[in-house]
Formats: sequence, C-alpha cells, structure tokens
Amino acid sequence: TANTAGTASTGAIVRMSHNPISSPTDTPNFIDNEFLPSKATKWIPVCDPATNNLVTRVPQSTPEELSAAVVSAKKAFPAWRATSIIARQQILFRFTHLIKENWDRLAASITLEQGKTFKDARGDVLRGLQVAETACGITTQLPGEVLEVARDMETRSYREPLGVVAAICPFNFPAMIPLWCVPIAVVTGNTMILKPSERDPGAALILAELAREAGFPKGVFNIVHGSVDTVNFILDEPAIRAISFVGSNRAGEYIYARGSANGKRMQANLGAKNHAVLLPDADKEAALDAIVGAAFGAAGQRCMALSVLVTVGESSTYIPDLIEKARALVVSAGFEKNADVGPVISPESKARIESLIASAERDGATVVLDGRGFKPDNYPKGNFVAPTVITNVRTNMECYREEIFGPVLVCISVQTLEEAIQLLNANEYGNGACVFTTSGVSASYFQKNVEAGQVGINVPLPVPLPMFSFTGNKKSIAGGGANTFYGKPGLAFYTQQKMVTSLWRRDNVDTGKQVVMPSHL
Ligand code: NAD
Repeated sequence: TANTAGTASTGAIVRMSHNPISSPTDTPNFIDNEFLPSKATKWIPVCDPATNNLVTRVPQSTPEELSAAVVSAKKAFPAWRATSIIARQQILFRFTHLIKENWDRLAASITLEQGKTFKDARGDVLRGLQVAETACGITTQLPGEVLEVARDMETRSYREPLGVVAAICPFNFPAMIPLWCVPIAVVTGNTMILKPSERDPGAALILAELAREAGFPKGVFNIVHGSVDTVNFILDEPAIRAISFVGSNRAGEYIYARGSANGKRMQANLGAKNHAVLLPDADKEAALDAIVGAAFGAAGQRCMALSVLVTVGESSTYIPDLIEKARALVVSAGFEKNADVGPVISPESKARIESLIASAERDGATVVLDGRGFKPDNYPKGNFVAPTVITNVRTNMECYREEIFGPVLVCISVQTLEEAIQLLNANEYGNGACVFTTSGVSASYFQKNVEAGQVGINVPLPVPLPMFSFTGNKKSIAGGGANTFYGKPGLAFYTQQKMVTSLWRRDNVDTGKQVVMPSHL
C-alpha cells in the first residue's frame, strides 16, 4: 500500500496505509469553528491497532477548554434557533454532500484508528450518512398538529429545540454514532457538544471540518476530548439539557443515572449479547454465510455482532461447515485489500478476549476453532484475534454471560424453537436477535415472543434504517428504552413539546369567571 500520509486541515493525520508516521500530530479540540490545540497536561495515545504505531495523542481537555465549548454552544443557540428551518436544512444538505465527497477520507481515518477493514469503514460512514440524509427531510418531519378543540379555540403542538445538547460516543463506530446524533440535534435548532471516543476521534474531527465548510455557524457543533473527567463535566454542566450516550453498560448505567439525577434528558444505548437461532429447515448455506459474516465482521466489535449461535435439533450438525467458513476468512490489517477481519481495538482488548476464550476451556466448553495468538504476515505487533468458535457452552459460563466484543462465537444446542426462545429471553441483554428458517410459522412465533430490540428473520444484522429507530430491550438500553436513537423517537428526543391553545374571538364564548375546569362541551 502506498503511503499517502498527509495532514488534514483538522490537524488529524489521514492516510491510506499502516506505514509509521514520523511525527504524529496531536488531536485538537473544535470550539467556535476553530481547531484549537489543547493545553492539556494529560494525553491519551491513539495507536493503529494493526501495528501499534502511534497515530495521534488525544488530550484530556482542560476545564477551561470544556467551559469554552459550553460558552460557545450557549452563545450560538439563540441565533441558530432563530435561523429559518429552510436555511438549517440547506446547510445539512451541503453537509451530507461533503460527507459523500470525503467518504474515503473518513473511512481511512476509521481504519487507521479503529482497525476495521476499509470496506467496512465505508459502511460505518454510510450508515451515519443515511441518518443525516433522512434528517434533511426535517421540514416534513417537524410540523406539529392543530385541531379546533372548541368553537373558535384551537390547540397547536410545536417541537422546539432544547438548547445545548451533548453526545458521548463509543469507539466501535467513529462516524456512524456521531451521525446518529449531530444531524438531528442541529437541524432541529440545538447546538451540540460532542465527545468522541478517546480511542478514535479522527472521523469526528473530519465531520467537524465538513460541518464548518457546509456553513454551520460558530458554536453549533463543538468537539471536546477526554475520558471520565470530560464525561463528568458534561453530566454536571447545568447548561447541557440532554445527553446521548452509546457504549458499554459499565459506563452507560453510571452516565444515565448521574445525568438523570441532574435533571437531564438522557438516551443511552448499551451492551449486547446477540443470539442467532438456526432452525434445521433454514437455507443452510445462506444462513451459515450470514452467521459467519455477522459474528466475525468488524472483528466482532459491533453492538449488533452475533455472539451466540443457538442450534435447534439437527442444525448442530452444521457446525463443521460453519467452522470451515470462519477459517476461510482473511485476518489482516484493514487497508489490506483482501482483509475480511481486522484487529481489535487495543492490546488490552486482545488480552481480555483471549482470557475469556481460556475461561471457556476451563469451564468445560470446547474451543473448536481457536484464534488466539494469531499473527498475520507483515503485522506481528497488531492486536489480532482470528475467528474463534466455542461449542458445548452452557449459560452459566463466563464466555456466555460476558459481552466478549471480539471475533468469538459461542454455540449452544437445544431441541426446540420454544427452548431457544426461553434461552434468549433469560439472557439479560436484549439488543438484537435473529432466526434462520424457511418456515413463516416459526419466524412469526419467534418475532412475537423474543425480547429484543432489533429482530432479524434471515437477516443477521437487522440494524434499522433511519426512517425507523434503533432501539433495544432489557439491559441493552437504559431507562427501559423510552428514548431511542434516530427515527421519530430521535426527533422527539432532541425537541421540547409545546402545546398552544388560543382563542381570538370572544363573541361566541361565555364571558365571566369560570371556576370549574373548562370542558369545551
Ligand atoms: P465505553 O463504555 O468504554 O465508552 C463509551 C464512552 O464512554 C467513551 O466516550 C468513553 O470515554 C466513556 N467512558 C468509558 N468509561 C467511562 C467511565 N467509567 N465513566 C465515564 N465515562 C466513561 O464503550 P466502548 O468500548 O467505546 O464501546 C463498546 C460498547 O458500546 C459495547 O458494549 C457495545 O455493545 C456498545 N455499543 C452499543 C451500541 C448500541 O446501540 N446498543 C452501539 C455501539 C456500541
């Protein structure tokens, strides 16, 4: 691969290879439409997961920098909410156009910092872009309702912006998750402070550069960095009215509780353990291809990755074929053209995944395909784990209970569809679930009875397109799933409802003091 290294105007290094960068540039904050170098004393290294070469350093933004972002977003809000919706829409149109023009650049930043294959990184950008494109339809999505509720009296509903809002993002979709939040929040008239994952902030910074170029005024979209200190600042800052969080349960349950206690509107999508149920009447080849792709694609680091396979009856005899398909996947660095599976995010993550595989062995499961210790040619220092398949798993084992977040598929066999559904519903997570079958009767029974936010029928990664909402069930979503991302609920999340009841003509109405509740009858 050619080294096309270069420094973008963001200061973030963007290049199309894993070659070492001689002098990595530190990641700046983005405040008031300016990329500002941080005065941080604490820095977090970001390394290319395929090589562990240093790519950039991310600041723990200082308290002054965090406050400056809030001042900027607060100052921008009155003029931005007063900007006509058509003008805001035009800027969003330009933003989506620029994302398309910079698609490869965004994807390259993702592959370099996050590790996923370049093709998959393009998909990361696309799924976020689609949310932004859908938000361009705001002029038909935002109108309220009106009804004449009594003679000459009417009630109208409005959706108004909240003010300053914030988003706290995970590492696994560096473009998609910021784009689940930013377009909807800003087109509805809010101003946004985004904290990307400290492990891969590059794509978010490119998005900020494109937002500025598209014409978003100063302060409408700001980026600050860091880990727990920045999150705590956001949770406690009175000016921030709503917070979107996507990430693990460990962080998210705390964030949801503290933000809610501070009176903020919260939405929080959390961890997962997604099951696929394979019935013996499924189209075997198509089902196995789908399961392998969804279990090992993105090295299993998707919240919708399939991490448990439940075989029903004789479909357990398909496992050897599944292993062959998994073994055939090419594990290599993300810019390598033939790579199917890239590295995992960090050496710590690799060690954690490998120790969970070891725990399965200790607990009496069988590691039938072992990806531990895998080193692809030319990348001996990367955080690689090759596809791993574990059978004879029981639900009390750590490898079943924990979200592994790596290319590991654990397999359990049961005898009936009913047993499979009971097993899924007993799991504390409820993000995604899918069934592979050619029977409409089985599929509809599964669909109706399974407790999961996203259900796939012969579809392994049923991530809803943005005209629907990304939801969740049980432990996979905080607050019982009342506030979900994008779609109609996403729009509702970033807007405050207002109901106006008006009466202009008084000649038809009884005058005088009414001390009983008006009934309008
Ligand atoms: P993470 O929880 O470690 O980090 C997410 C964000 O929280 C980051 O910005 C991080 O800085 C912050 N954070 C981390 N620990 C914190 C703490 N102790 N206190 C305060 N803030 C903290 O998650 P991750 O590893 O970046 O992402 C992977 C997780 O995200 C997986 O569990 C995955 O299932 C989940 N995820 C869920 C969805 C969904 O829609 N349900 C989508 C993508 C990822």
